Parts: sequence; structure tokens; C-alpha cells
Amino acid sequence: MTISRRSFLKLSSAGTVLTTAFGFDVTPVRAQTRRLKIERTTETRSICPYCSVSCSVIIHTLGDKARNVTGSTVVHVEGDPDSPINRGTLCPKGITLKQNIVNDLRLTKVRYRAPGSDQWEEKTWDWAIDRIAHLFKQTRDDKLIERDSQGRVVNALTAVGVIGGCTDSNENNYLMVKLFRAGLGIIPLEQQARI
Ligand code: SF4
Repeated sequence: MTISRRSFLKLSSAGTVLTTAFGFDVTPVRAQTRRLKIERTTETRSICPYCSVSCSVIIHTLGDKARNVTGSTVVHVEGDPDSPINRGTLCPKGITLKQNIVNDLRLTKVRYRAPGSDQWEEKTWDWAIDRIAHLFKQTRDDKLIERDSQGRVVNALTAVGVIGGCTDSNENNYLMVKLFRAGLGIIPLEQQARI
């Protein structure tokens, strides 16, 4: 039997015909090829960080999941079919999520530009956390409004704002309100989470 390239492609969609043509069933071979990409990966469920729809995703990772291990990498991201929000689908932006995670341009170190400077300096995480804490306390000490114009106690801090993200859960946001509004008096609190 002579098979042209065109007729081969046609036959490829019909495993039973190929069985006849080649004398063996190629269907298991095709299935195996499709399975290999995520065969040895660990599945982690997460949320797409890009917008407030908050689609659920499954992240496939190769490696032993230990922190900072070289060679542990994300190989595939797909929509979670168990999610009632997106039911396995992702929009064109969400489907590129792997490029957000595995990307040479991703910032992984603290970079600081001092006031008035045109140079970026590399800093440690401890330095950044200390500086944030210092500036926050200084701002709160200077700007806390203890009483309103009628003398009522308000303890409001409007000089600091807190912005969350779409991956913040209800529990996260509950704790954020407890800490930032009830604890520290911050009025501007916003996030885009819908989960
Ligand atoms: S997949 Fe698209 S629609 Fe869903 S959360 Fe991400 S950006 Fe939004």
C-alpha cells in the first residue's frame, strides 16, 4: 500500500485505519507522547494573580519541592477543572502564567534607589524589612490623627495605604483588616480578591 504525506495525515486521525496500514495499533504511542510532559511533575493548586476573576490553576513542577533547589522548575500551568470559577479554562493572559514564574527578567533581589539618586543599589531582605518598619513607625508617629474636629477619639492613619492582591483569601483579608485597620488605624485598605 502506497501512502502519500496527505493521505498519511488523514489516516493519522483514524487509529483503526493505521492499524490496518502498519500492522500495529499506534493509538497507545500517541497517548504516551501526550502524557510525558507532566508525567513526573508535582501538582500544586493556586490562583492566577493577574486579575480579579481569580481563576484557579494547577502548577506542574519538576523537582523535590525543597526550597532553593537548583533544577526545581515549573514546566506547565493549566486551568483547574475542579474550580467553579473557571472550570479548567484560562484566558490568553492566564495561560502564559508559566512565563511569569520562569523568567530571567524576574526580580529576585532587593533593589533600592535612594532619594535624589539615579543609581540602583542591591540590598538584603533584612535591610528592606528594617527600613520599611522604620519608615512605617516614623509615619505613624507623625501622622496619626487621634481625635477628630469635635474631639472624638478616632485613631486614624490616612498617610499609609495597604494594597492587597487577587490571590489574597478571605482569611488573609480578615487578618489584614485586624492588623492594619483595627490595630494600626490605617483607613485606606484595598484589594481585588474575589475568592
Ligand atoms: S486567567 Fe485571565 S480571567 Fe482568569 S484570573 Fe487570570 S487574567 Fe483573570
